[in-house]
Amino acid sequence: MQLILRQGRVVDPSQRLDKVADLGIEDGRVAEIAPRLRRKGRKEVDARGLIITPGFIDMHAHLREPGREDAETIESGTNAAAQGGFTGVACMPNTQPVNDSEAVTSFILERAREVSKIAVYPIGAITKGSQGETLAEIGEMRRAGIVAVSDDGHPVQNSQIMRRAMEYSTIFDLPVIDHCDDRDLAAGGCMNEGYYSTVLGLRGINPAAEEIHVARDAILARQTGARVHIAHLSTRQSLEIVRRAKKEKISLTCEVTPHHLLLTDAEVVSYNTNMKMNPPLRTAEDVKALVDGLASGAIDVIATDHAPHNVNDKMLEFDRAPFGVVGFETAISLMMDRFVRAGKLSLRRLVLAFSTNPARILRLERGTLAPGSCADVTVIDPEFHYQVKGADFASRSRNTPFEGWTLTGGPVMTIVKGRIVSTRQT
Ligand SMILES: [Zn+2]
Repeated sequence: MQLILRQGRVVDPSQRLDKVADLGIEDGRVAEIAPRLRRKGRKEVDARGLIITPGFIDMHAHLREPGREDAETIESGTNAAAQGGFTGVACMPNTQPVNDSEAVTSFILERAREVSKIAVYPIGAITKGSQGETLAEIGEMRRAGIVAVSDDGHPVQNSQIMRRAMEYSTIFDLPVIDHCDDRDLAAGGCMNEGYYSTVLGLRGINPAAEEIHVARDAILARQTGARVHIAHLSTRQSLEIVRRAKKEKISLTCEVTPHHLLLTDAEVVSYNTNMKMNPPLRTAEDVKALVDGLASGAIDVIATDHAPHNVNDKMLEFDRAPFGVVGFETAISLMMDRFVRAGKLSLRRLVLAFSTNPARILRLERGTLAPGSCADVTVIDPEFHYQVKGADFASRSRNTPFEGWTLTGGPVMTIVKGRIVSTRQT
């Protein structure tokens, strides 16, 4: 066999599997999972004490290339993702130029083939230039290889255009991913509207700006039958709307980011611009609801919204700095330390949210270790201990809100198509 991981705890919800076993890989595919494999591997890994899962997929990331290579490139971003335990990332179209055409989609995939050790799944724009006016060439981009459409960052305001986009997306069986944000309602805000925005004298973003678009999308998803995915859901009310829609069998899924699960708007008191993201950090009640929603399965996916910005761009007054934080290299450790080890989230849920569900939503032949499937594997050491240091990131950017945090539990090996592409010393 090409590679055998010996005696790790294999957690694969797609097969209802959670047991100590040997995992054998041959020709880039999972060959066999058995209590003990007699055959020898050309390479063998002692995985005792480690957790073996189907490869984690970050379905919401910004790789910045083409256009902002000072902040990140496809090469640096995918290296950071591999280091962070991800075997694949879906990249949002808000590059320069915007990924609204076959040419840009093909460029991204071509570049990824040249420089990336992991899979890159481009997301195409909903509208031309993400200007919100006319639909982009979705069919053309689909043929070139996009896995979803989104105008993330410049969300579609016009509900008629959103309706048409949903109708159109069903022809190609593409999910529509929406960054829910009513621009008029949110206008000029730089943090959550509430107690802390009042105390700090900063312009707030009304949480209703998100919730109104979540409700709109649920209603349009019911009407059109489209598969709709809510990006980085951040408020208790948004979650309530998603819960209700799911109960009514509307095809609506959603994701949450580690920062919205771990930080509140009280952090903005520091004026640290690495606490500025969109949607903004919310209240403690929102955080509690999101944690419950993830544990119960109402929230389908954990995604990073990895949004690299170079230091100079972030070194501005809070209200003038750009939104966004990096996430590839901290996401899994944060979730392991603060939730799995703390007993708030099962490993099964973690794997569902980072692998099984993103693969299902994006219709990727991934998210499973069933024999015959692509051998994309994430290996986690529950005892891996380290301190977050932006200076050590493989990413070109360091804008993390978690600088200095000490975490236990994290990815130590990333395997793509049976090849070990990244390791960390335990
Ligand atoms: Zn977004």
